Amino acid sequence: MEKLIIEARINEYAMREVNAKVPWTPAEIARDAADCRAAGAAIVHFHAREDNGAPSHQADTYGECISRIRAASDVLVHPTLGFVALDAAPKERVGHVVSLAKDAARRPDFAPMDMGSTNIDRYDAAKGRFRTTDLIYKNSTATLRHFAQAIAGAGLKPYLVSWNIGFTRQALAFLELEWVARPAFLLFVLTDGEVLAGHPGTPEGLDAHLNQLPDDPGLHWSVCNFGGEMLGLVDKIIAAGGHIAIGLGDHHYGAFGCPSNAELIARVAARARALGRDVATPQETREMLAMDR
Ligand code: ZN
Repeated sequence: MEKLIIEARINEYAMREVNAKVPWTPAEIARDAADCRAAGAAIVHFHAREDNGAPSHQADTYGECISRIRAASDVLVHPTLGFVALDAAPKERVGHVVSLAKDAARRPDFAPMDMGSTNIDRYDAAKGRFRTTDLIYKNSTATLRHFAQAIAGAGLKPYLVSWNIGFTRQALAFLELEWVARPAFLLFVLTDGEVLAGHPGTPEGLDAHLNQLPDDPGLHWSVCNFGGEMLGLVDKIIAAGGHIAIGLGDHHYGAFGCPSNAELIARVAARARALGRDVATPQETREMLAMDR
């Protein structure tokens, strides 16, 4: 079986109420990324943050994060596109990645494409109420085609994201049309907690994705669980030949002693080795995904 690609999802927009080890500043992000790399991660996914943890909307902050990550380790860099307004124009949403790609020191490796649209209101089940009722994460086919062209044009690897089977079908159509090249990388976003848009973070939720997936050697898949812990799914994913994306951005892991991102990555890497599956380095990941540089 191919080596396991571990991605550290280090922060998203997580705060520090439960686990204070969420990195926010560029320096913290770079140090955390290097620690995760040392623990077995091949990819780091980050969101730029202000010093107080608020989302950063500055392309330069993304550039600073990437140059610091690059200086500290060889981990592959996967920034979010989600730092601009949800209703911004497609060109604006992908623009920072395209401009950063022109500068070797600030160049990302991946750029994400969420392959469909969905409600992303948060539902507080304990209180029985929605916190918002009108948040739509909108990614039209035209927007996604623009992203595919812009990302390929910038020489970056598209990172396909599926929240449910409809997103996966859209991703497969893009592969069929060769709007996205094989080998492709596809992340299944399971959602526990307050976001209802994904399949639940259960074996059944994951199986619903996998049952829909064609047997295609040109399609590598990974799994995260936004809003919930994922250690309970790690053995299943490793055995099924998938890859793993995990970190404090998705969940605080308070019930597991509030580990750091690197401690979480080390746990996954140890589990993989115990189950007879080696862990991929960044360079091996580049080769598996046919990334140019
Ligand atoms: Zn993210």
